[in-house]
Amino acid sequence: ASSEQLAREMVAALAPVESPAETVDRLRTTFRTGRTKSLDWRTDQLRRLRALLTEHGDELADALHADLGKSRKEAYRTEIDFTVREIDHTLEHLADWLRPEPAPVPARLGGAKAHTVQDPLGVVLVIAPWNYPLQLLLAPVVGALAAGNAVVAKPSELAPATSAAVARLLPRCLDEDAVAVVEGAVPETTALLAERFDHVFYTGNGAVGRIVMAAAAKHLTPVTLELGGKSPVFVDRDTDLKAVAGRLAAGKFLNAGQTCVAPDYVLTDPGTGAALADALATAVEELYGADASTHPEYGRIVNRRHFDRLTGLLGSGRTVTGGTYDRDAKYLAPTVLADVAPDAPVMREEIFGPVLPIISVDGLDEAIAFINDRDKPLALYAFTESDTVRERLIAETSSGAVGIGLPLAHLTVSDLPFGGVGESGMGSYHGRYSLETFSHRKAVLDTPLAS
Ligand code: NAD
Repeated sequence: ASSEQLAREMVAALAPVESPAETVDRLRTTFRTGRTKSLDWRTDQLRRLRALLTEHGDELADALHADLGKSRKEAYRTEIDFTVREIDHTLEHLADWLRPEPAPVPARLGGAKAHTVQDPLGVVLVIAPWNYPLQLLLAPVVGALAAGNAVVAKPSELAPATSAAVARLLPRCLDEDAVAVVEGAVPETTALLAERFDHVFYTGNGAVGRIVMAAAAKHLTPVTLELGGKSPVFVDRDTDLKAVAGRLAAGKFLNAGQTCVAPDYVLTDPGTGAALADALATAVEELYGADASTHPEYGRIVNRRHFDRLTGLLGSGRTVTGGTYDRDAKYLAPTVLADVAPDAPVMREEIFGPVLPIISVDGLDEAIAFINDRDKPLALYAFTESDTVRERLIAETSSGAVGIGLPLAHLTVSDLPFGGVGESGMGSYHGRYSLETFSHRKAVLDTPLAS
């Protein structure tokens, strides 16, 4: 099989590069044969993708380490195994999710029967960012395949090793006439977006989200936009600050803070803030030791541009812990800033790095007003023992999700939709929500002639 493989790869290497229009045409031809619609094809593709992840896991983990300094443990936990779990959940429930759903028919249509079916859309495009470059590309692909579509996957050029690994492995392991990988940066993505897709699923920043949506509008193609923003954390008084700090630091400094749902900033009253700052300094040391630069689990900033942007934010407050960096190594220590003004530079953009500012507010009312004065976040976190605080935060603010007591974890629950609202995006995915996203729910009314 390996010499056959080699021969195929040599032929592919010599073949002229396919244009975006040719790729989409080729995939559309496959879709029109109807083969991607059968449950057998869908489950077979998902099993193959699962095998790719388990058989080539170390190769993918090496690529993730090269791109982001991710440790092997973190690469498996947050990217490879995460996607495997998403596949397993989908394989377990897919037949169930695809069952036609009956709908009640009004009496005046006596004798008629109504139901809905989930129709595959056709050829869909998935565009991924660099921060979880494998998971954020493949988890949507899982949904697209489960829904019976052909897929073009566009990895991020800012994670080049992962992009190359995916481009090498995916077409080889899956139905190569139904799944294509197109690598590249702005020109390649712009060329792809000029084609007519049946859905575009984009994860990344809001500025590019607008470009994607405008390009899709030309074809009246629906979009899912998984964007970012500043996800706040409310810390109530009288909570166990050692536990809060441990969970907050673990969520914030994972992947060196480069997580779309990372806690961006903390809102708390001044007294709690002072005690929390100390507790966070201790928690960081417990997680990464006295010098995180030597700890194998601590990641690096993706590139110099982001590194320079982040070090520019360090003057926004009093450094409680961290603040040190090494530009050549793209290392920035886990940093907590106290006494940060609401309009300081660090509060004017999504941080997307290992800097955690603490902002003082005078209780829950002010925290809610602070959140509602700003863009709707992707996630809102709270640490509280009070049901009233929980209920008020859920009812009186708008965000993609609410996580109480544990940042990030909501996105690992496959039965919860993952997505934003307003500036943090539109649409959602994971589990059955991916199936909804990548299908059209078609209404069927069947009325007998003799009635
Ligand atoms: P990025 O720079 O890798 O860009 C994302 C994708 O957009 C890439 O594939 C890139 O090639 C493409 N792209 C860039 N410029 C383009 C253009 N002009 N036209 C067409 N395509 C273009 O990643 P990023 O945007 O820096 O990612 C970070 C952002 O993504 C943060 O705001 C973060 O919060 C957000 N994010 C959101 C989620 C989520 O699930 N909601 C997940 C991860 C990241």
